[in-house]
Amino acid sequence: MSKPIAYSVKAYSAGSAKSPLSATAISRRQPTESDVQIEIRYCGVCHSDLHFVRNEWGFTQYPAVPGHEIIGRVTAIGSAVKRFKVGDTVGVGCLVDSCRTCPDCRSGLEQFCASMVMTYGSMDKHLGTPTLGGYSQGIVVTEDFVLRIPANLNAAAAAPLLCAGITTYSPLRRWKVGPGQKVGIVGLGGLGHMGVKFARAFGAHVVLFTTSPGKADDARRLGAHEVVLSKDEAQMAAQAGSFDFILDTVSAVLDLNAYLNLLKRDGNLVLVGAPEKPMAVAAFPLIMRRRSLSGSLIGGLPETQEMLDFCGQHNITCDIEMIRMDQINEAYERMLKSDVKYRFVIDMTSLK
Ligand code: NAP
Ligand code: ZN
Ligand code: ZN
Repeated sequence: MSKPIAYSVKAYSAGSAKSPLSATAISRRQPTESDVQIEIRYCGVCHSDLHFVRNEWGFTQYPAVPGHEIIGRVTAIGSAVKRFKVGDTVGVGCLVDSCRTCPDCRSGLEQFCASMVMTYGSMDKHLGTPTLGGYSQGIVVTEDFVLRIPANLNAAAAAPLLCAGITTYSPLRRWKVGPGQKVGIVGLGGLGHMGVKFARAFGAHVVLFTTSPGKADDARRLGAHEVVLSKDEAQMAAQAGSFDFILDTVSAVLDLNAYLNLLKRDGNLVLVGAPEKPMAVAAFPLIMRRRSLSGSLIGGLPETQEMLDFCGQHNITCDIEMIRMDQINEAYERMLKSDVKYRFVIDMTSLK
């Protein structure tokens, strides 16, 4: 098979862990028969983008183009594409391909496929070069990894559903969070604010743990029944042994034992936050009450579509602050200071 021909789009990339993002041009493959070509309209800014660009997880190849909360318009389709047509508004999340045949793929859990292709930070099967993400004008993705966006949702505010949305929706569903349960969400950032919205929509009693006293009113507006300032020992002690489930969305190292102690017998603390350094876990908070500590990674394609459809039915979107592409480095600095309400979204027309 001859190598597919590529074309060029404008993008923002980083040349090293220490360099800021700046304007560049990148190659995208011409759509094959099963591909959808997308003009990117909005891209959310995930803390993972920042971890990746700065090589905090140790696998970044440069130049790096992050961005995996993509919403755009279909500009071309391959001859075999069935589900999309030119002009459709579509989404692309953290995955752009997988093997399709392993048990994980067959279960719709493509995020655990050993051959999954991430939107950035993997190898592009077609071009043989590292995949490059959504801080760009366009992307070409195989049909099966393109998502439908409910028409009633604001496209910009829906973009972060593609990562922050599914990453919180999936563990809340898997651990069957619902009425009669007390659920904690740790951190009110991009993931955390969606965790609060979903946990509330699923009928749980929601408690938000924050290090930022100034976010308490917003947390209640977003759906939290209670807000706990996690640096206040008395407030933490008052919650001991009372939770069925706690979701940690924090991007930095956290005292996990303090949260394990808040769980009931058989309660679960689930990590989605992915700090660069390991965290210490004491045995006693786990063994004394048969508690569990688990992790969760985004969600597979079927569940991501289910989450988008749920958001369409319940009119759930993200609370966003729109930025221009050239404000991205400043946005990263603000994200590091927990100063985001509650997700930056890049208006990609600013990359003209
Ligand atoms: P974010 O918007 O920056 O939010 C993180 C929040 O954590 C902050 O707003 C802050 O909330 C809290 N926080 C920050 N530093 C803290 C500290 N030192 N101690 C305690 N709390 C702190 O980040 P995000 O985009 O939501 O991502 C969060 C983490 O999830 C990142 O590590 C990201 O890589 C990871 N992630 C994982 C997956 C997955 O599939 N598992 C998917 C996406 C992202 P308060 O101000 O309320 O304290
Ligand atoms: Zn993400
Ligand atoms: Zn697979």
